[in-house]
Amino acid sequence: MVRLVLVLGDQLTPDVAALRAADKARDVVVMAEVMGEGTSVPHHPQKIALILSAMRKFAVALEGEGWRVAYSRLEDAENSQTISGELLRRAAEFGAAEVLATKPGEWRVLQDLEDLPLTVTVLPDDRFIASEAEFAAWADGRKQLRMEWFYRDMRRKTGLLMEGDQPAGGQWNFDPDNRKPAKTDLLRARPRDAAPDAVVEDVLDMVELRFAHFGRLRPFRWATDRAGALAALADFVADRLPRFGEEQDAMLEGEPFLSHALISPYLNLGLLGPMEVCLAVEDAWKRGDVPIAAAEGFIRQIIGWREYVRGIWWLQGPEYLTRNALGHSRALPEMYWGGESRMACMAAAVGQTRDLAYAHHIQRLMVTGNFALLAGVDPARVHDWYLSVYIDAFEWVEAPNTLGMSQFADGGLLGSKPYVSSGAYIDRMSDHCGGCHYRVKEKTGDRACPFNLLYWHFLTRHRERFKVNPRMGQMYRVWDGMDEGHRERVLAGAERVLARLDAGEVV
Ligand code: FAD
Ligand code: SF4
Repeated sequence: MVRLVLVLGDQLTPDVAALRAADKARDVVVMAEVMGEGTSVPHHPQKIALILSAMRKFAVALEGEGWRVAYSRLEDAENSQTISGELLRRAAEFGAAEVLATKPGEWRVLQDLEDLPLTVTVLPDDRFIASEAEFAAWADGRKQLRMEWFYRDMRRKTGLLMEGDQPAGGQWNFDPDNRKPAKTDLLRARPRDAAPDAVVEDVLDMVELRFAHFGRLRPFRWATDRAGALAALADFVADRLPRFGEEQDAMLEGEPFLSHALISPYLNLGLLGPMEVCLAVEDAWKRGDVPIAAAEGFIRQIIGWREYVRGIWWLQGPEYLTRNALGHSRALPEMYWGGESRMACMAAAVGQTRDLAYAHHIQRLMVTGNFALLAGVDPARVHDWYLSVYIDAFEWVEAPNTLGMSQFADGGLLGSKPYVSSGAYIDRMSDHCGGCHYRVKEKTGDRACPFNLLYWHFLTRHRERFKVNPRMGQMYRVWDGMDEGHRERVLAGAERVLARLDAGEVV
């Protein structure tokens, strides 16, 4: 009997588990563009266009390899607009009672599959370096899940940057050589843009008509197939990797990309694999084209952070999405959806997010994430925003980064202390403050940088929780040593900022 083989929009890998388990001669591949997924949150138009374009091309490639593909386009009249609905429709069409699927990255989609009145076999998604079981075994019995220890195990497992059982260059981690402030001579690289072809143009027109979500659709710069993704990887390795480590944390006005890789959407869709990306980077180091600090810094992001957040995501279960350890409840300020802001750093991060569906890690963590955390925004709303606006946002990777790393909503599982800072950090790592309405050196008064005010407000309101944290005690001693009148002025200034946010006024 014919079986249906479900391939989701982020499973565009020719040997993804469900395809490996299927039989070309009898099974039918089901791929479906559905409104239910496009509008589960208001996804950025470029993200929708990327996924749909890549799906259409992948379906053609599968047909070229001899697969029978039942492909539902968004505009098809008979499209039920949900994945479950399309599986049921195709089951009736082909007389199928069984579905082969690769585990989706969202609990919601997994639940929908499990609820189907068909026999559904969900296979593990093995496009990762560590399996779920391997991560669970690593985590079992540990008091603290430190990324660095997990990363070292992944280095040993993969042999990347290893000399026997020792790390190449004599160190596991070269971060002290990386992360230079913005004041150094930064590269201002120009990554290669992929020109939209006819398939992409069709999709862009359709997305323009159907999705009125936050974010500019054009110009559209993303590659939409494996060849384009490989070209983007090669471009990064040749041009930007040598300075990746140094420029990793810097932010420059009008320079959204610096030396970042811009490959996360391709990895997350399955157009590139984590190991091939790391091997390309390791090869560049072996050839002597890039310093070890850059190669190590990059490989740590992939086999360390990316795998680690995924492990935590599956270990924690669907309840992770509801975590709110700090009890934050403020609405997400309008400036996140393009509303006016006088804060130059926030305006830059949100503006490029609107235009490019991209912001790099430090913009996400130390600007937009930092501000939401300091202001006490409900982490569920912050999660919705990150899941919506970034080209690479899929729940398994976005949620642990947002709820755990950025918002401390999991109470410190992913990071031992919250990622919060005053304006001084942003001033050191960027050139935004010079052109800002606010003054980064001012600690009180109407022109004081809101990060300066809210930083102390955050520490004060969560004093009971954080005063015992060995990495934060020093900050409480600094605060306690300040003049009482000054402390009152700081807190009153922070209250004014929060009141303005609550009233929908420009901050
Ligand atoms: P580079 O800076 O060049 O890094 C290279 C690669 O390392 C990335 O392509 C990515 O695959 C990987 N990587 C680096 N850091 C992480 C990390 N913390 N978690 C997972 N992978 C990492 N990444 C996503 O892929 N999807 C998301 O939805 C996402 N949401 C995030 C939300 C917040 C609040 C934060 C703080 C980070 C988030 N990240 C997410 C991680 C990181 O910001 C992006 O992977 C990175 O900015 C992608 O751009 P790039 O390819 O130029 O990365
Ligand atoms: Fe951002 Fe404050 Fe600097 Fe303005 S002064 S750019 S708000 S850190």
